[in-house]
Amino acid sequence: MSADIDVARRLDLVRREIDAVDRAFDHHVSIVAVTKGFDEWAIEAAVAAGCDAIGESYAQDLLSKQAIVEGLAPEVHFIGRLQTNKVRLIAGLVDVWSSLDRPSVVDEVAKRAPSSRVLIQVDTTGDPAKGGCQVPDVDTLVERARGAGLVVDGLMTVGPTGEPAEAARPGFRQVRRLVDELGLSVCSMGMSGDIAVAVQEGSTEVRVGTGLFGPRPARN
Ligand SMILES: *Cc1c(COP(=O)(O)O)cnc(C)c1O
Repeated sequence: MSADIDVARRLDLVRREIDAVDRAFDHHVSIVAVTKGFDEWAIEAAVAAGCDAIGESYAQDLLSKQAIVEGLAPEVHFIGRLQTNKVRLIAGLVDVWSSLDRPSVVDEVAKRAPSSRVLIQVDTTGDPAKGGCQVPDVDTLVERARGAGLVVDGLMTVGPTGEPAEAARPGFRQVRRLVDELGLSVCSMGMSGDIAVAVQEGSTEVRVGTGLFGPRPARN
């Protein structure tokens, strides 16, 4: 129970951080609680605290949490790098595929999870470990996903890590511009370390892990 109270308090701090941003628009910024790397308690606490959705990054971890996910039925966003051979295994558990970044995963998601909601992930750091397609490829992927019957809600990007939050600003600005040019609605950017910069640049969805749950246990 104390974990629940802690997460609720931290969620409140995140909401205040978002609300404190001076911004030209006043749309709702939703909060995806990134429960990757944490045990079931984090999902329980996120749901109890009223997060908009949970985010998981590893197919195997999501599968191991299948019982609680089905029991509590939070909206599940898959935010990690997607391997085509894993899509089929988690198709029944995922509500939003947030990290489509190449034709093969677009096609596989369309096949295994027809008509689902997706985001196209854009690379704004040049770090291949983070995934994401190159900016000039974004509209082709959006078209491909639509052609395959998927619902493209918007774009997602991951800012640089281990750098001051300010370093994320140019990339965030570029992704917001693309969202507008393509007439999309969701602009998923901002994590625990760069929430304010992301919201200043027009994020509609932040993905927060350590800011809600504390340090992530090491992956073994
Ligand atoms: C882990 C992760 C997050 C959350 O990062 P925190 O620093 O824990 O807030 C957000 N988005 C993606 C894609 C991630 O992999």
